[in-house]
Amino acid sequence: MDISVPLKDKVALVTGSTSGIGLAIARALVANGADVAINGFGSAEEIDEVTKALAADSGRRVAHFGHDLAAIDEAGRLVEAVTAQFGRVDILVNNAGAQHMASVDEFPDEQWNRLIAVNLTAAFATIRAVWPQMRDRGWGRIINTASTLAFTAETRKSAYVATKHGILGLTREVALEGAQLGITCNAVCPAWVLTPLVAKQVEEKAAELQYSFEEAARNYFVTDMPTRRFVETHEVAAAVLFLCSEAARSITGIALPVDGGSLIA
Ligand code: NAD
Repeated sequence: MDISVPLKDKVALVTGSTSGIGLAIARALVANGADVAINGFGSAEEIDEVTKALAADSGRRVAHFGHDLAAIDEAGRLVEAVTAQFGRVDILVNNAGAQHMASVDEFPDEQWNRLIAVNLTAAFATIRAVWPQMRDRGWGRIINTASTLAFTAETRKSAYVATKHGILGLTREVALEGAQLGITCNAVCPAWVLTPLVAKQVEEKAAELQYSFEEAARNYFVTDMPTRRFVETHEVAAAVLFLCSEAARSITGIALPVDGGSLIA
């Protein structure tokens, strides 16, 4: 897919970019000329491989920052560390996400707190930390990965659904505060994307119903979407890339579904 958005000399920080959607976003940003700070977990070998491949394919600066966004202080430190190494952060993509499934009466405190911290509080803290430099330069792009679950709900996902609804509120608030500062803030809202986060849910459903992985995927996940196929990671990345472009400078505070029509079905 050829979508070209000139981002040369821009520095992007993508949280949760060692796999899945975040990695695809990092790939799209370096391919369009940005230097990219990646963040997230994984083995040292995997992260080294990902970092080197991104840099080699694009010729851009790429570095990994291992900050654990479950701690609010770490989110601020992440922005500081990236700014110290790359000199600036022009594009912030809050994509790190965690999931835990349990009925509301059995939802453990520590999982509730972890999801609120990673999926919502970390985004607030990184935004707060990048704000002064984006304001002073009069340019910034903030994109938060929400979900179709920012609009709908699903059983056994109370914390996840609450954080995804919450991130839309934060997106709109930040969009208002940035409107006269050259800073836009938007959310992308994917439906099912077959990443490690979702593969785990497909495996659980397959085990519960004694289905194969493919049967569970087809009967319980893909059927949610009118297109009857998973959304691809690069399709979410393309939406993020557009929101980073100059063409999108008057687009702020939106929640852009990348959902194969799920929300209208
Ligand atoms: P993924 O598991 O492939 O990626 C999650 C990323 O977040 C990984 O890089 C992981 O290491 C990182 N991460 C998790 N906890 C972290 C922490 N405490 N500190 C730092 N990094 C942490 O999953 P994904 O599906 O690519 O999810 C990315 C985002 O997309 C999430 O916000 C998720 O909620 C959202 N999303 C996913 C889907 C889907 O169907 N896959 C749909 C809608 C929204």
